[in-house]
Amino acid sequence: MISSTIVCIECNTRVQGRADKKFCSDACRNAYHNKNRTEIMMGDTQIKLVNQILRRNRSILLEILHCKNPNRPVSIFLLKVKGFEFSFCTHLVNDNKGNAIHCCYDIGYQYLDNGRIRIIRDF
Ligand SMILES: [Zn+2]
Repeated sequence: MISSTIVCIECNTRVQGRADKKFCSDACRNAYHNKNRTEIMMGDTQIKLVNQILRRNRSILLEILHCKNPNRPVSIFLLKVKGFEFSFCTHLVNDNKGNAIHCCYDIGYQYLDNGRIRIIRDF
């Protein structure tokens, strides 16, 4: 029986045979799965790169917390010199006044005026 409504998910040609067939040929099945594997591997590489940046950001915050009075504001410039990447954070939360805390896992920071931030451990 010819199934006229089903098309190969790789090449879009009409698939003949059982209604649950997804591919017109073994070649298309292999091509599709190879492409899928490649995309997953590329995704893994991207995830590793972002994780590296987040890990470095966290260790910079931790280093500053360990050598300074935790409540003392720190200049954004100092963090940038150390390699901190401000466009990467894990999540955002609000303090009890509704001000945003940018989080890097368990450490957060808030933007103050004059190009400074305050690093926050407990939030
Ligand atoms: Zn095909």
